[in-house]
Amino acid sequence: MSRALIIGAGGVASVVVNKCCQNSDVFTDICIASRTKSKCDALKNKLDGGKTKITTAQVDADNVPELVALIKEYKPDIVINVALPYQDLTIMDACLETKTDYLDTANYEPLDTAKFEYKWQWDYKERFEKAGITAVLGCGFDPGVTGVFSAYAMKHYFDEIHEIDILDCNGGDHGYPFATNFNPEINIREVSANGSYWENGNWVETEPMEIKRVYDFEEVGQKDMYLLHHEELESLAINIKGIKRIRFFMTFGESYLRHLKCLENVGMTSIEPIEFEGKQIVPLQFLKAVLPDPATLGPRTVGKTNIGCIFKGVKDGKEVTYYVYNVCDHQECYKEVGSQAISYTTGVPAMIGAAMVLSGKWKKPGVYNVEEFNPDPFMEELNRFGLPWKENFNPVLVD
Ligand code: NDP
Repeated sequence: MSRALIIGAGGVASVVVNKCCQNSDVFTDICIASRTKSKCDALKNKLDGGKTKITTAQVDADNVPELVALIKEYKPDIVINVALPYQDLTIMDACLETKTDYLDTANYEPLDTAKFEYKWQWDYKERFEKAGITAVLGCGFDPGVTGVFSAYAMKHYFDEIHEIDILDCNGGDHGYPFATNFNPEINIREVSANGSYWENGNWVETEPMEIKRVYDFEEVGQKDMYLLHHEELESLAINIKGIKRIRFFMTFGESYLRHLKCLENVGMTSIEPIEFEGKQIVPLQFLKAVLPDPATLGPRTVGKTNIGCIFKGVKDGKEVTYYVYNVCDHQECYKEVGSQAISYTTGVPAMIGAAMVLSGKWKKPGVYNVEEFNPDPFMEELNRFGLPWKENFNPVLVD
């Protein structure tokens, strides 16, 4: 018997709502609240009829008093933040004021600086502890499941993990020359930034897309992948004891990279406001407005994703390697919940993480990244809710 307030009504929220309804023993009541209420109503109308009671509300999640009023009125047991990273801190403030548990899928990023890091949210740790409430940060797939995979590897297969390579492969094809699989603004800010990886206690910075490798992904095939900075590197570097190196690679097709380079070259990916016909506009926000909405890619995306982690370390004095990954089919996701696999692989873990907090399995006052909790019940739920994982104890390593 639990109530969840879901903030946001985009691609990821749509999957969270679907999955909460599939898990109606835990989520008896949900409220979908977002800036554009008609999108919340549309989601509700698609799903009405199940056992979970759905209501909707309008909220500006940049506004703490509005959020507090909504939380006081709806009285949720948890707030699931699947709006944008810009809203993380205001939603955490509202959770503190109302003593409500919190979960999100992406770390805070200020609107005017394309720099995401956990510092801002980790600063809430003591206040959440004092208030006796739990915040789970970054509970999508990556970050999210990648942290759970790391905790699972550590718990069951290693005494020490020395290296982690996170491999995010999207072998999907949506038929457009250029589109992003989640919010274009957030996606382009992420991939056009400098890359970096963690090695021997330091960050090593690279040019964007400077480091390229080729990997043969099961059920997808051979793909080019590029080293990016990614938020879970920051928390895993602290939480996985003995770690010496962590890298994150994401696959990109040639067409995507060619278009991105061109857009960068002409200034369309800039977040610096410019004057246009007497009005200030941010080029990247304008670009977002003309690109396909990721939520509409579902029906036209075919192919599979394969996301996972390769670990190297020692157990009982012997060197061990271990690869754990999930393969997800875009069209299967679309048939089940009407979304493509990127929204699906993010929304399913968000629902599971919230269920972990609600059931008490992941409830401890403070602010935590997912690898700080017991991974076992979460791993079981991944199999149950559509993201089964596979293991390989002799994987091909990335050089
Ligand atoms: P969308 O752009 O599809 O949806 C975002 C939603 O947030 C929209 O409904 C939007 O409302 C709403 N929103 C934006 N600003 C506000 C505001 N001030 N107040 C209330 N609502 C607001 O994004 P996605 O669903 O693709 O992504 C959601 C989150 O998931 C992002 O933070 C993204 O970074 C994260 N993500 C995480 C991944 C992971 O693996 N960890 C992978 C992919 C995404 P409106 O419709 O009015 O604009």
